[in-house]
Amino acid sequence: MSTFLISCKSNIKPVEKDTYLMGTIVQLKVYGGNAEKATQKALERIGDIENKMSVNMETSEITKLNDKAGKSGQKLSRDTYFVIDEAVKYSKLTEGAFDLSIEPIVKLWGIGTDKERVPSKNEIEEKLKLVNYKDIILDSKNSTVKLKRTGQAIDLGGIAKGYTADEVKKVLINNKISSALINLGGNVYAVGSKSDGTSWSIGVQNPLDTRGKYLGNLRVTDKSVVTSGNYERYFIVDGKRYHHIFDPKDGYPSENGIISTTIVSDKSIDGDVLSTSTYVLGLTKGLKLVESIKGVEAIFITSDKKVYVTSGLKDSFNLTDKEFIYEKR
Ligand code: AMP
Ligand code: MG
Repeated sequence: MSTFLISCKSNIKPVEKDTYLMGTIVQLKVYGGNAEKATQKALERIGDIENKMSVNMETSEITKLNDKAGKSGQKLSRDTYFVIDEAVKYSKLTEGAFDLSIEPIVKLWGIGTDKERVPSKNEIEEKLKLVNYKDIILDSKNSTVKLKRTGQAIDLGGIAKGYTADEVKKVLINNKISSALINLGGNVYAVGSKSDGTSWSIGVQNPLDTRGKYLGNLRVTDKSVVTSGNYERYFIVDGKRYHHIFDPKDGYPSENGIISTTIVSDKSIDGDVLSTSTYVLGLTKGLKLVESIKGVEAIFITSDKKVYVTSGLKDSFNLTDKEFIYEKR
């Protein structure tokens, strides 16, 4: 993901922490008298969620749940149960464009790991048989989740950072913070306004340029800004780019003309799922989905350098790169 802070002029010095958590760079910028303590608590909360939801940790609840696929259910913390429940709801809403049971495909491709490769069509078809969110059995009474078939597995990579951003915001607010920037690898939450009372300016990555090159900026106050893009994690074979957002219909990286989707919303969990979902759904269906949800706005960028912006952002988004063509909705 790649939405970054452009400017933050203020005469009050924030507490700034940069660290590596959840497989990504975490940057916190926290203003106010209690900032040191609040930041510490926020980092602890991020670690706590990572320990519960990471697919890369043997002791996480998700790993335990995946190991029991086809056999029994796994009792989960409120955090993990909630995120799975939300992910299932969105899987239904998007008719499987978002599918939290995508893990066998994610693992097969291994993008971003030392095992990344282009699998054969046969391998993909075999693993794809295991991908189906309808096989996730939720028992809310006992806070237990079970995967129906052996080999099935859940991956919360498209949603967990959004949930974490929401939880970090909660921790900060509970610790008397009213102005902060949370950046979990481009999954941004701009808490409140800047300490001088003006809105934050968040850069939107130019998906065709190097990291940190923006094609425009967004002015926001107390909003989540989440981007999914084909430049975040990928490898190239014979000149072809293979990225980390898969179309659950065929098990290949999603190719439909979209190269980045940015979602602006009140809750980052919604922004995170919707950025991944709309990336897979494509321009027409993606815009339709976003427009059907109140309080959610979007910026979609296509490979032919068109920028589609929903009506609610017309005053807050500023396209600065003239190579791109602005298409208002
Ligand atoms: P994001 O960067 O938020 O768009 O999420 C991408 C991550 O979500 C990937 O690295 C995978 O872990 C996971 N993922 C990939 N494709 C899908 C999909 N179609 N539905 C749900 N999760 C996905
Ligand atoms: Mg996402």
